[in-house]
Amino acid sequence: MRSRSGLLVAFAQQADALLKDLGRSRSEFWDSQLEVVDALLADASDKVKHRVDVMFAGARARFEQRYGKEPAELIKLVQRLEGDREFEAGSELRIPCPVCKTPAALFGTHEVEPSQSGPSLVKPIVRLDIDSFSCRICGLRLRSRAEMIAAGLWTRITMTLADSTD
Ligand SMILES: [Zn+2]
Repeated sequence: MRSRSGLLVAFAQQADALLKDLGRSRSEFWDSQLEVVDALLADASDKVKHRVDVMFAGARARFEQRYGKEPAELIKLVQRLEGDREFEAGSELRIPCPVCKTPAALFGTHEVEPSQSGPSLVKPIVRLDIDSFSCRICGLRLRSRAEMIAAGLWTRITMTLADSTD
């Protein structure tokens, strides 16, 4: 169940993301509320950070328990096999797991926007909004944008699709 302050935090985070997208100033928008909003967000991010630290420690312990005594060559092989394996449906990208370095899946949504850079350069832009992460080897799972940010993993990626006629 979400508390009232949890909802306020979610609202403030969404508003901040929107302001950033719109290129608007936070201090202008929040005005006299800025201090309260900042305190709310700092408190929330401390809590998330703590939760993510615990999840990292758990994943590290699981990896250590399972593979800690295995030779490095064998671990490398397991990681290579995992990288070649089919990923869960909906996975958008892979990155090395921050705990065990195995290729792991990022999930989120993507949007394709036509390029704004003029008629000669019509390369579509793909915007990925990443909101979860899953590693099948150490079991690390992050389930929200806030957890992704606390883990130091980026949550928004913009790419230009390579021109297929290149
Ligand atoms: Zn991992």
